[in-house]
Amino acid sequence: MADLSEADKQIMYRDARVSGKYDEIWQSVGKCVFCDLNDKYVFYEENGVVMTVALFAYIDGHFMIIPRRHVRSVKDLTPSEWETMRKFMYIAKKLIRETHGIKGMQIVQKDGATAQSTVEHIHFHCVPFDQPDLNTWHYRQLDHTPAENAAMYQDKHEKIAKLSQRFAKKYQDD
Ligand SMILES: [Zn+2]
Repeated sequence: MADLSEADKQIMYRDARVSGKYDEIWQSVGKCVFCDLNDKYVFYEENGVVMTVALFAYIDGHFMIIPRRHVRSVKDLTPSEWETMRKFMYIAKKLIRETHGIKGMQIVQKDGATAQSTVEHIHFHCVPFDQPDLNTWHYRQLDHTPAENAAMYQDKHEKIAKLSQRFAKKYQDD
């Protein structure tokens, strides 16, 4: 990549998702890319949280909300970081509409080994959503009725209450 001109690099980034280059590049990244953000793409920052354009965007206008600190999960965010992220999500939708004329937005945060790539630095994708072609859901034949699905979670009420208490104790200030 070092031998590419800046203009060629920009085109490579633009096309990487469809050219297959992305997968190739991804294999060779050794460090945490979100600890090492290029300030050229960061367009706003408050309280240690940034909004930055995605280098390998899904769609024009796609950007990310990322805390500067290398944390893996929402539970590791400070109240100040979370409050800032909440504000940025609010801003994001308006910004996409203002900039791209697109009224819809998906916020995507992949969590867990089967959903997440190699990045262990939490980030929220803000993806302009105009047509459902960007991600197609493949619905599955269900094993359970809605009432059965609800019952399975309702049975876990005690567990949920315990998790809520645990979260408050471990990750929230008084
Ligand atoms: Zn990191």
